[in-house]
Amino acid sequence: MSRPVRSKAFDDYCRTMMCPRGHRRSITFIEGSGAEITDLSVRDRALLENPTARFAGQPVPGFLRRLRRLGDDVLGGVTVTRFRSDSVIACGPCGEEWPVFVPALGGAVQVRRERAVRIETTPLGEEVSTIDHSAVPVDSTVSVQISCGWTKSIEIEWGRTTTRTGTVRVGASHGALSLSLQRQVQESLNERHKISTQQAQTYATSVEVRVPAHAVAEVVTRWKQRWRVIEYDLWVPEGEEVTVVCRLADGPSYDSALRFR
Ligand SMILES: [Zn+2]
Repeated sequence: MSRPVRSKAFDDYCRTMMCPRGHRRSITFIEGSGAEITDLSVRDRALLENPTARFAGQPVPGFLRRLRRLGDDVLGGVTVTRFRSDSVIACGPCGEEWPVFVPALGGAVQVRRERAVRIETTPLGEEVSTIDHSAVPVDSTVSVQISCGWTKSIEIEWGRTTTRTGTVRVGASHGALSLSLQRQVQESLNERHKISTQQAQTYATSVEVRVPAHAVAEVVTRWKQRWRVIEYDLWVPEGEEVTVVCRLADGPSYDSALRFR
């Protein structure tokens, strides 16, 4: 596993004493419950282990000097003996959280939050099944098999990508993420939804209809692709929290109607 690196939000906080949205001295440290990080770089280790005591009598690094000067009793005064990979810093005024560490470059994209936004549908076509009961003298109930091909996929609306701090950018025509980050995000969400390849699938079911004696009936089925629109807050390796909007094709839906010829 590659060594985690300090997130930009945490790094910026150590330098500026402000949260990424500009709230001053408002950060609290929340230790996570995940894996303990044991291979910290020397500077990060120094920051964690009672920094004010450790640097007593030595030239104090700039960020610690600032911590002391501002009298911040959160990071500067508190002894943090362990740092867990999923620890966060939280800002009171904006109620937001940022990771302390992000995976090193080449690490994985992490899903921080998932929000269901809405369900959308798009037409998948019409299916007509004919039931010829012209020679059947009684009313009867008939079960009609219907089926539809569809493809499980996830489409990310890159143009609607937003970043928490505005630090991740490239590709003007592709929102705020570089092509390599886009690929990583796509792969991560594919994995999350178990989409290995965009394989065509068939959805089959049956509908029951009541057909009168001597009638020729048609079951008209309008198939629709159901899309779950989802927002993901992600931590991307190269930067900060990124929010992407995507549409997950998770199966067809349909309306069936009966008509007579
Ligand atoms: Zn804030």
